Amino acid sequence: MFSFRSRNTNNTTIDTFFMNKIVTPITLGSIVLSTVAVFGQTYNDPQIKAKADAIHASALTLDTHCDLPMLLHARPDFDVTKEHNPRTTGSKVDFPRIKKGGMDAMFFAVYLGQGPRTPAGNADAKRRALELFDIVHQIADDHPDFAGFATTPEEAMALEKAGKFAVFTAVENGWAIGNDLSLLKTYYDLGARYMTLCHTSNNDICDSSTDPKGPEHGGLSPFGVEVVKEMNRLGMIVDVSHTSDSTVWDCLELSAAPIVATHSSARALFNHPRNLTDDQIKAIAAKGGVVQMNMLSGYLKAGNAGRAKALQALREKYPRGAELSEAQQQARAAEMQEINKRFPEELATLQTVVDHIDHIVKLVGVDYVGIGPDLDGGGGVTGMFDVSEMGNITYELVKRGYSEEDIKKIWSGNFFRVMKEAQRVAAELNKG
Ligand SMILES: [Zn+2]
Repeated sequence: MFSFRSRNTNNTTIDTFFMNKIVTPITLGSIVLSTVAVFGQTYNDPQIKAKADAIHASALTLDTHCDLPMLLHARPDFDVTKEHNPRTTGSKVDFPRIKKGGMDAMFFAVYLGQGPRTPAGNADAKRRALELFDIVHQIADDHPDFAGFATTPEEAMALEKAGKFAVFTAVENGWAIGNDLSLLKTYYDLGARYMTLCHTSNNDICDSSTDPKGPEHGGLSPFGVEVVKEMNRLGMIVDVSHTSDSTVWDCLELSAAPIVATHSSARALFNHPRNLTDDQIKAIAAKGGVVQMNMLSGYLKAGNAGRAKALQALREKYPRGAELSEAQQQARAAEMQEINKRFPEELATLQTVVDHIDHIVKLVGVDYVGIGPDLDGGGGVTGMFDVSEMGNITYELVKRGYSEEDIKKIWSGNFFRVMKEAQRVAAELNKG
């Protein structure tokens, strides 16, 4: 029988490991190595910095994809109110660093790695999702001086005015609903304002971009069609990050509201199935949606081929859902450490990320791009390694000549436009 290890004290969880997401000290060797290896682009030209700091302070800064809840779930002793060193703790987000990074709002993901698509597996997925929603709400509810929960752009703006941080939430991986359409409303009522339809494997809703078994439904399944319709009716935004190309096209055709990619980049600049083609970016823009820049190095630069192969082999050796003994867990952690030694992750740079922004702006204009770095889920590049460095994004945009108005659109104007449109479409659908 498959079960989640919901509260363990071991630093490596089944989830973090199998999702290829990096939140644990296990990976430190690679992070330190790769950071040392990269030369220094600086962010301290006084003129650029003064302008960038002013814009950054006045913009409502929104990150649309962060996996802090996964880290909190795996490390219940983690104190989010204390500042952590990302290079010795593997953590990219806490309150002091959110403040340093000038962040006003973030979507904290209720994220599930794909498990068995069986009644028992689906029940576990639901239980785990509900646990993660609890964690997200606690981030806001337990720290009312610092944060508040938000479900609309207006609520986030009100919190910003009050000097507080807005906690948004969303579901990553539609497996969280299993085969139960009614769970969409349950999660919506818990605050989820988008749902990423799948993760790295196919599920009952759609095909993933990275399932080694290849496509299963040819895009959205018949159930997936019902899911998109219900999401439209609720005003929950359809997120096509992680989905296969045919799923993206199916969603573009079917969705009554604009669709988004909350953490994806441009395939024209780096050929990876997790990134979007120019045609897809154009179609998402034509529908009024937005593409939020991912900052996961494996999707931004080559050089991690040996690492990817080794991780894949490890995943096959310890499949998700397998019950692992303590000894097996230790063996797996040791093998992971060995992979980090042999194939240290080579980080992309913030300049590369902003090249992706430039590309999308040239392709479709500045109204269709935003920021979704996937911190605590493997995201973080040289120059934007943790949330405290978010200001460097604004610096780089100012340096490249973006106006204050454009930068504010990139930070939240564009995504908020989609949130409002999703609500308008839902109201329209419910009228009819
Ligand atoms: Zn993801």
